[in-house]
Amino acid sequence: MKQLNAAAPKERAHHVLQACRLHDALGAEILADPKIALSLKAYRAAIEKTRTAFAKAGIFEACSACAAHVFGGCCFPDMEWNYTVTHLLINRLLDCPLPTRHAYEDQCLFLGDTGCLLTAKNHFCLNYFCQDIQRKLGPASMKALLQVVGEEIMAGWQVELLLIHKYRSDLFL
Ligand code: SF4
Ligand code: SF4
Repeated sequence: MKQLNAAAPKERAHHVLQACRLHDALGAEILADPKIALSLKAYRAAIEKTRTAFAKAGIFEACSACAAHVFGGCCFPDMEWNYTVTHLLINRLLDCPLPTRHAYEDQCLFLGDTGCLLTAKNHFCLNYFCQDIQRKLGPASMKALLQVVGEEIMAGWQVELLLIHKYRSDLFL
């Protein structure tokens, strides 16, 4: 296993920078691990399933029209700190580029022009549906959607567990 020093100074977006450093140093080695590669494949499939369900339910359309344009909406600045280095590293392993500068100063770092830039979102972001969306979808559709979201969260958790078991957990701080 390659040695890597934990990130030193705390820059703004230091968790993103640490995830990118880890990806540069360990990405190929991680992807060569058959168990992790398999779990990433299952995670990608679960993410795709959620995306299809969200698109069908009109969530992306509603959220991309709202998130960047409504002050005090879901994607407020503190949300970016709910992401661990591990989760951001997983985004890089899924070929998702990570921003280091805010597109909108008063919003989450990961918010772009057409919505969230992340491939792998955490449970805070996946599980939140505002009252408008809940009303629009109704209880049966909400239940079906939450089931799909739950499967994605579990698939992501499997990848995280494998990474934390394989590597020193302090690398991910
Ligand atoms: S969940 Fe509701 S409030 Fe949040 S971004 Fe989507 S439409 Fe806007
Ligand atoms: S990570 Fe994405 S969905 Fe979550 S708050 Fe930030 S922009 Fe919004």
